[in-house]
Amino acid sequence: MRAVVIGTGPAGITAAETLRQLDPTGTVVSLSTEPYPPYSPAAMADHFLTGRDRTLYWKGADVADRLGIEERRETVVAAVDTDNREVVVDDGGRIPYDGLVIASGSRLHAPLEGADLPGVLNFKSMRTADELMGRVRRGEAHSALIVGNGFIGVELSLLLADLGVDVTLVGRRPWVMPRVLDPVTSSRAEQGLADRGVTLRLGVQADAFIGEPTVDGVRLADGGVLRADLVVAATGVKPHIEFLGDSPVVTDWGIHVDDRLATSVPGVVAAGDVAEAADWLTGERYVHAIFPNAVAQGRVAAANLLGADLAYEGAEAMNSLKHLGVPIVAMGTIDDPDEVLRWESGGDLRAVYLRAGTIVGVQLAGDIAAAGIYHSLMLRRADVRRFGRHLVEPSFGMADVVSDAVAPRAAHAL
Ligand SMILES: Cc1cc2nc3c(=O)[nH]c(=O)nc-3n(C[C@H](O)[C@H](O)[C@H](O)COP(=O)(O)OP(=O)(O)OC[C@H]3O[C@@H](n4cnc5c(N)ncnc54)[C@H](O)[C@@H]3O)c2cc1C
Repeated sequence: MRAVVIGTGPAGITAAETLRQLDPTGTVVSLSTEPYPPYSPAAMADHFLTGRDRTLYWKGADVADRLGIEERRETVVAAVDTDNREVVVDDGGRIPYDGLVIASGSRLHAPLEGADLPGVLNFKSMRTADELMGRVRRGEAHSALIVGNGFIGVELSLLLADLGVDVTLVGRRPWVMPRVLDPVTSSRAEQGLADRGVTLRLGVQADAFIGEPTVDGVRLADGGVLRADLVVAATGVKPHIEFLGDSPVVTDWGIHVDDRLATSVPGVVAAGDVAEAADWLTGERYVHAIFPNAVAQGRVAAANLLGADLAYEGAEAMNSLKHLGVPIVAMGTIDDPDEVLRWESGGDLRAVYLRAGTIVGVQLAGDIAAAGIYHSLMLRRADVRRFGRHLVEPSFGMADVVSDAVAPRAAHAL
């Protein structure tokens, strides 16, 4: 097969690698808008902090050469002509395909006045992150204003604070990472940020980026103005689907895919941050913008393009904050539980969110050693009612789960 993969992020490069492995004599063309080898955005902060490339270029900077993938960098897809099976690039060139993987990921979503002012920075891709970090390296940034208190805003605040920049983080919601952390767990993250010298302005609505001719601040809903050398939008992400405007590929927020990661057009699959896949728990379709989902989807989408007929088990939500100083893991959902069990002592915290006796969400801070056990119980949809409060006690562990699984079998055997 002649396969074309749009994107060399975690989903795209995984798809390209899978295509090469399963179809050694086929052609694989991969396209990206950026000048870098395939990289992991999740490793950018570490790269800028330490200068190390190993986790950034997680498949090796020479992955395309090594695997015989025809990699075209700085190539922007402008349209997909599904009738003729061709990808149209922005210089008018056409790239034919037998099978197409769309793994174009996501971009900054900043629905705020002034977001297009020159100088509004973001940390969504290596290209934009390089521009931002260039200003820090050149000593042009003593202060930074980060708008958006989600995962990327928090990660960037920590990075800049560690590089000696005076950081203010502004967020509309009253606690950080509100989509994944509950307020109690979030307070640990907030403490970690404060310990690193980050000023938190939470529960504060930013109305507009301001400055003439370039941005130099943010106007708040209460009329107040904050100013800084660096002004960064970390207000959310949106799937890269603009180039599908005239195509019959069905999109909503992202690209609609079925449980085979097929789009509405035969011969076209989608994976990663651009795809709206079903949640393993609720079946609800939305974009699950995390690295493990992108990789898993890249693999399944590519195999199915070659006719494998693999079902994608469903995306799941899982986040961990690496640079906070306090380990934090959040998985599943904190929405609509019918019971929440909590345990806290010193720096350690466990919260388990339950619906109908099964785990739907877990938040851990400090001692996160039990994350794997909770994850496995959650995925198995195990009925955990029999554990009662013991479920969140520090003594809860593998022994409980194993003896619980073994006991009924032993009783049956007797
Ligand atoms: C700062 C940061 C930290 C993160 N930390 C974590 C973390 O700790 N854990 C975690 O699980 N996830 C993390 N994530 C999220 C994770 O990085 C993403 O879920 C993952 O990168 C998605 O992979 P993807 O391949 O779908 O898309 P992307 O990585 O966004 O890659 C998209 C690719 O498509 C290309 N492309 C886009 N449009 C076009 C076009 N028109 N033509 C040609 N090519 C195009 C781009 O050039 C790029 O190669 C983080 C993200 C960021 C930004």
